[in-house]
Amino acid sequence: MATRHPRLYALHADGTECPRSGPGAHRYTVSGKPLTAGCPGRTCWVAECRCGWSITASLKVAADEPRKRHSCPRPPA
Ligand SMILES: [Zn+2]
Ligand SMILES: [Zn+2]
Repeated sequence: MATRHPRLYALHADGTECPRSGPGAHRYTVSGKPLTAGCPGRTCWVAECRCGWSITASLKVAADEPRKRHSCPRPPA
């Protein structure tokens, strides 16, 4: 089953991914302060598709909205 939408993930200042789910997920307070030891906090959000499309934004919603609207360009028949 193909992924319907591009992947959305958060980045630390050093460019590493801030995991959002799973046993190693970095947790945050509701105000956005990191709770996980060693997590410097999220600096930006990236939506990235397998077709090569990607967008980087400082706010989650600014990356998530275009991600939801994205549809991959179809290769010429
Ligand atoms: Zn983190
Ligand atoms: Zn795509």
